[in-house]
Amino acid sequence: MGLSFGTLQMRETSSGPLPAPIPGIPVRLDPLAYEACPGKGIPYPAAYRDLFGTYPENWLMGHCRWVFVGYSRVPEIRRRGASGGVITQALVTLLETGQIDGAVVVRQGRPKPWQARPIIARSVDEIVAASQSVYVPVPVNTILADMERFDGRLAYVGLPDQVASLRQLQRLGHPGALKVNTVLGPYVGTSVYFGAVESYLRSNGVDDVEEVAELKYREGEWPGYLQIRTRSGEVFRVKKFYYNYLIPFYVTRSSLLAVDFTNELTDISVGDAWHPRYEGQGGGFSVVVARSERGEELLASMQQEGVLAVEEIGLEEASSMHAHMLDFKKRGAFIRLEWRKAMGKRVPEVGYRPVSIPLSRKLVELAIVSLFGVCRTRLLRRAVEFVPLGLVGPVFEALRRAWKRISKPVKRRGLVEVPFEVKGSLSASPPQPPLSPPRKREGGSPSLPPTNGREPAPQSPRQPGGRPLRSPLRRRAEGPSSVSPAGGREAFASVDPASGREALPSIILRRSLRAMMSAAREIRYWTQADWSFADIAEHYDRLAQDYDEINQDTYSYFRRFTDALSLAQLSDRAHFLDICARTGKGTAYFYQRGKVGSAVCAEVSYRMGEICQRRLREVGLKRFRWVPLFDYRLPFEDGEFDTVLSLETVEHFSEPERLIAELGRVTRPQGVLILSTPNVLWRPIHSLAAILGLHHSKGPHRFIGYRKLLAMVRQAGFRVECAETKVLVPAGPRWMINLGEWLEARMRHTLMPWIGLRRMLVCRREVE
Ligand SMILES: Cc1cc2nc3c(=O)[nH]c(=O)nc-3n(C[C@H](O)[C@H](O)[C@H](O)COP(=O)(O)OP(=O)(O)OC[C@H]3O[C@@H](n4cnc5c(N)ncnc54)[C@H](O)[C@@H]3O)c2cc1C
Repeated sequence: MGLSFGTLQMRETSSGPLPAPIPGIPVRLDPLAYEACPGKGIPYPAAYRDLFGTYPENWLMGHCRWVFVGYSRVPEIRRRGASGGVITQALVTLLETGQIDGAVVVRQGRPKPWQARPIIARSVDEIVAASQSVYVPVPVNTILADMERFDGRLAYVGLPDQVASLRQLQRLGHPGALKVNTVLGPYVGTSVYFGAVESYLRSNGVDDVEEVAELKYREGEWPGYLQIRTRSGEVFRVKKFYYNYLIPFYVTRSSLLAVDFTNELTDISVGDAWHPRYEGQGGGFSVVVARSERGEELLASMQQEGVLAVEEIGLEEASSMHAHMLDFKKRGAFIRLEWRKAMGKRVPEVGYRPVSIPLSRKLVELAIVSLFGVCRTRLLRRAVEFVPLGLVGPVFEALRRAWKRISKPVKRRGLVEVPFEVKGSLSASPPQPPLSPPRKREGGSPSLPPTNGREPAPQSPRQPGGRPLRSPLRRRAEGPSSVSPAGGREAFASVDPASGREALPSIILRRSLRAMMSAAREIRYWTQADWSFADIAEHYDRLAQDYDEINQDTYSYFRRFTDALSLAQLSDRAHFLDICARTGKGTAYFYQRGKVGSAVCAEVSYRMGEICQRRLREVGLKRFRWVPLFDYRLPFEDGEFDTVLSLETVEHFSEPERLIAELGRVTRPQGVLILSTPNVLWRPIHSLAAILGLHHSKGPHRFIGYRKLLAMVRQAGFRVECAETKVLVPAGPRWMINLGEWLEARMRHTLMPWIGLRRMLVCRREVE
């Protein structure tokens, strides 16, 4: 939304706030919006290289220069902070020392506290008032336009996805993003939809969220309470760990698919120091990672100024504190991504992945995913509200601990050895440093001073020790990780480490699962009554990379262009619209035959769009524009185009008559529409080919009966000049295709209209 020039608004949905068009205003998006979209995925390897010069040594935690446990030594900031108040303290230091003029933070809504939103805080008071964590989605980057207008330098606090997006925008030169000189962010395991809070309220007999006067996710002594005060003065409180029982019921999809736990693209990232040693003391302790030189310098100066207490710990100890969540992200999330992808859903591409994951870990994931799947049903969400809170919290916590204990061997086993491969580079990371249990410090007790009563005296910075990551401003990121070949193996095959081969049961399991998922998907396409542009885009985005390659050898694919050209009498150098232009092959083909003077390629899939634009530049077409399609109202003038090409397109829309009507509107009088769409008889064959993996699926679609199709084009103001049904043998050995062509020529007007694959219409726009 921050990149939509005010043409989108945030709409509250059960899946958190989502951008939606403002009625009556055509959507306009900054071209950077797609590049920086975390839903599409940000390429982490490129971002690592850009920010830190190398890939990380440790792919579980990202780049780490200095890792420690600490807290703000200003009691008020520490008390109000989610853990040790380190993020807030860093922002305050930056502002007070004149390094920034404002900070992008998240503030609880006013007067509706549940509507948290991003602000640019300009004073210490504003920064401190925004401390604590908000565990429901807050669209921080909606503030980009304000950042662009802001006069001065900024710090920025965001969740990993938001930070990745900001970094991408910095890379691409967005003026608002370039004002940010320091990026901070929390570790993020899971976040929950706001429905979790509503559910908690209902359990307490409050049905209307408007009753809420104050909402704190981490109030009181660390680790804190969810605390809600109502307008009538009632206060509800539940321990953070007990309140976590709602996670399986309301966990957000984005946090299940995010692979970055420790906010790897920040200058400084901060999490809770989950360890009995610190939890026992209360007060609030953060685990802090300085990733960049800037982050390290800032923290060292805070330590020197006496506002930050520091106990150095090693990377091992820091990883060990969060081993379960690291596993949840660095193996679990990759498994979930792969499964989702196999089900035909769009997933973010992060540019790297674990080379292999053992079957035992996948079985653990199956249990987790099944649990979440069951808990997220409406029935169970409602049912849990009737269990007394005094029971459900402790029971959940006991179960969580038991599950952690049971799954620990499988989850930890192999975690540190997991090599990660950067997609497309055939390079894999070396094993991670071992995740040992927290190491006892030499000399016994931790060096953080006792925290009761008065704040202790500042500590002087420590000298660099022999171990890595224990000294500020000394260590520099080392060269790139050593590499070992990772081959083109599929990431989720269970690979025998000795032979490097995939086991036969694994192959059978994988292929059967894939066929079952394809069948389920095709059944869904057959039965769904309605679907959105986003659903179509999802399918084609997923397909984009392989689309040309798959179609390369499919005889019927290119016939759509050659048949279209031979059937229609087209004027030369026309103003040309290619609707659902996919990878731009049609426009390129007609351009190379002199039929295109200027072109507009409209398409639902951005990924296809990228390929299309590249192709058209390569063929030398200078006057073209690529336009994203969001809805049926096409963003063109009446009668704008001389020639409109709509090949194998209309069947993808759940309301094809609306699309065809729009094609009528934008074609000039006497202009030509060439429309092709498959014969309904071929629908089962298309689906079967997808299930058997012989061809790509058509995605969401409904084939249109011939008479209905003719009625639609006439209704849209066209006269049908020529109608033929083409292609008998769509693919296969050359002799079969030749036979097909021979039969086709002889049955052109007899059997072909019945059994041919593709309806082709050449239509002329009537003069009104
Ligand atoms: C959704 C979420 C999930 C988390 N999961 C984990 C976890 O699994 N394990 C773990 O160790 N730590 C987790 N954390 C981090 C932890 O809760 C603390 O934020 C972190 O320890 C920093 O503490 P602090 O006292 O230094 O932060 P503070 O000094 O309290 O500052 C927090 C800063 O974060 C900003 N902020 C708060 N919520 C959001 C939000 N939703 N979006 C953007 N900015 C926000 C605030 O504006 C503030 O500037 C999570 C945080 C969030 C928001």
